[in-house]
Amino acid sequence: MTPANFDFHCHSVVSDGLLPPQDVARRAAANGVDLWALTDHDDLGGLAVARQAAEEAGMAFENGVEISIEWQGVPIHIVGLGFDAAHPVLSDSLNELRVGRIERAKRMGEAMAAIGIPGVYEGALCFATNPSLISRAHFARYMVSIGIARDVPGVFQHYLTPGKPGYVDHRWATLADAIGWITTAGGVAVVAHPGRYKMSGGDMRRFLDDFKDLGGQGLEVTCGSHSPDNVMHFARLARHYAFHASRGSDFHGPEESYVDLGKLPQLPEDLKPVWRLIC
Ligand code: AMP
Ligand code: MN
Ligand code: MN
Ligand code: MN
Repeated sequence: MTPANFDFHCHSVVSDGLLPPQDVARRAAANGVDLWALTDHDDLGGLAVARQAAEEAGMAFENGVEISIEWQGVPIHIVGLGFDAAHPVLSDSLNELRVGRIERAKRMGEAMAAIGIPGVYEGALCFATNPSLISRAHFARYMVSIGIARDVPGVFQHYLTPGKPGYVDHRWATLADAIGWITTAGGVAVVAHPGRYKMSGGDMRRFLDDFKDLGGQGLEVTCGSHSPDNVMHFARLARHYAFHASRGSDFHGPEESYVDLGKLPQLPEDLKPVWRLIC
């Protein structure tokens, strides 16, 4: 089958999305998505429900995840697609990765208390359906709710990005870990939203060299945070590295995402779509 509208990047309440997995599935199908993956951060807990809801809506489904890593000091996200969700290497490693999130969240709470804003860890927890996946997005939503900033991007800008008072360092997985776990479980590793990373052109190439050497195969070319220039740039890099191209909205919720499920441009026609590797 050749999908007309695939979307391989989005989130549910299992991580920092705002809708339950079954509602994300229904929304994707209603928007015309015909091949879909749920890619919650560092957690596979929504996949079974998502698959069933996708089947009920007549939409093809692939397992997905978005793994948080750090490469040479830069936080990067690697999407895994089409893996066996029951494979212990992937699920056990993600369980370990999640343990560190709670501890980081407590340190974020302490850092905010130190500038006179107490209780944000406890507040953020109330916004997290899955406490083990507490994320900066939950902090941002809580801080908007108590009037610290007008909107979520405003909280990130002033408090939650490197150099700002609520940002704390954290040891994420390595690039080799994430690619290893995904490929061992039979999946394909894809670089998420490459246009978002603060890296020079040379560093991006060194990163993509490493990614390819370690077994990575895909690059998100069309995604919710890419400008038309980003799309052209990463299409060129996909051709250069012979990567398969992915497309994903990175939808988190109706109020928070600029791009809705399936509502983004098609991939440039000459690129090899990543679904060919897994469907
Ligand atoms: P974490 O994994 O806890 O570091 O949180 C990262 C999440 O926060 C991302 O997956 C996005 O959902 C969200 N996020 C990151 N940066 C921003 C930003 N500048 N504005 C809004 N949301 C952001
Ligand atoms: Mn997120
Ligand atoms: Mn991401
Ligand atoms: Mn994402």
